Amino acid sequence: MYKEDTIAAVATPPGDGGVAIVRVSGPDAERIGSEIFQRSGVRNGKFNSHTLHYGTIRDPRSGAVLDEVLLTIMRKPRSYTGEDVVEVHCHGSHVLVQEVLELVLTHGARHADRGEFTKRAFLNGRLDLTQAEAVLDLVRSRTSKSAELAIGQVRGELSKWVDDLRERLLDILVHVEAAIDFPEEELDLLDRSQLSAQITALHDRIGALIDSYEWGRLYRDGAQVCIAGRPNVGKSSLLNALVGEQRVIVNAEAGTTRDAIEESINLGGLPVVLWDTAGIRETNNEVEKIGVDFSLKRLDQADAALIVLDGSDFLTPEDKAVITAVGDKKALFVINKSDLCLRLTTEQIRAFTNNAVFVSATEGSGLDELRKALRSLLMGCAREPEIVVTNLRHKAALERAQESLKRSVKACAASLPVELLAVDLQETREALEEIIGIVTSDEILERIFSQFCIGK
Ligand code: GDP
Repeated sequence: MYKEDTIAAVATPPGDGGVAIVRVSGPDAERIGSEIFQRSGVRNGKFNSHTLHYGTIRDPRSGAVLDEVLLTIMRKPRSYTGEDVVEVHCHGSHVLVQEVLELVLTHGARHADRGEFTKRAFLNGRLDLTQAEAVLDLVRSRTSKSAELAIGQVRGELSKWVDDLRERLLDILVHVEAAIDFPEEELDLLDRSQLSAQITALHDRIGALIDSYEWGRLYRDGAQVCIAGRPNVGKSSLLNALVGEQRVIVNAEAGTTRDAIEESINLGGLPVVLWDTAGIRETNNEVEKIGVDFSLKRLDQADAALIVLDGSDFLTPEDKAVITAVGDKKALFVINKSDLCLRLTTEQIRAFTNNAVFVSATEGSGLDELRKALRSLLMGCAREPEIVVTNLRHKAALERAQESLKRSVKACAASLPVELLAVDLQETREALEEIIGIVTSDEILERIFSQFCIGK
């Protein structure tokens, strides 16, 4: 499944930095390390595993010293990939790092593909598939909460959960298969109503995992929130106030924001991208029209909308058109300009929603309440689930597992032959095993690891 050659890549991000790491993994890693590295003041000798050494990288052909570095060796199997790994910690000039990498490559390593180190860790049994995928989430996490979820999965929390489901399923399968092997004893071996209760319990546990996905997805990918409203209600001002600096030009003339502007904020650990869009209204101005169409499209794609109304003005037909455009999407009404004399009354707002906050974007009042209300709108009031699924592939496999369990409950109730029951339960098993990577295809692995960066 994988060639046992030696791979190398820069493990740190591109650009200049204090330190950069060139990682080498495979059977020739140690040989390459000892050919290009010279320990300071002493002969190289044999390095102990998991030790760090100070010395120089030199090109053996020319004798030229490239850099002063730290070199570490981690012999198999106690390394990230499960192979011999050598890491060169050099100074972080991108030119220098490339030179060190070139030297490693000319000494027999091959440039690693995307995610190839982690793929090898998986193929060598150092990580299961959920753990390997969580490494990618960890590298990409944008808030401390998404990092917390990812590190939990790297440490195998989800794997344990899925393993437990699989064990419960195997217990059921043992009985079903025994009943197939000894048909004359089926009645003694299988109490169908008890079996049905066990399968239903498993089905519900899987259901809870599936339900946690929305929570996990928002934490992992962040939420997209569209600030919608007619022109001049203070959408750009609100975005600036929430971001905490002036990112969008605020203009008293209506219809001036025409492109969608996006800014990221951190809402108590939840990454949120806010889109300030062109004010939604009927217009004959061609350029503004394009902006309005774009706003409607963004609104459609968003997880939720902040419907901004100007509290110092009466509700206009344009406001009502915005409310209609938002439709049944999750929405929070933001009554802005509350520093001015209010014309919009709570009763009028109640005709549309119970979910409204009063703010002043220019004075900064009501913003904390708005942040809290937006967070609970996005996450729902539910407590954080015990275990969170963040990956769409896992969710899809769980849904398949749940579907086949549903069929097997029906098969139980209809007293269908145990062979049919076994087919459905085997499908559930396959779906669960696909999550942790007990059964996988090359195609799935390719799809997963190609999302990684080179060097991970
Ligand atoms: P947009 O077209 O909806 O993006 O509205 P802008 O943010 O450009 O604001 C339109 C006008 O309303 C500007 O003159 C802002 O200074 C003013 N404005 C925005 N928010 C407030 C507020 O909370 N209080 C007051 N008094 N004026 C505001």
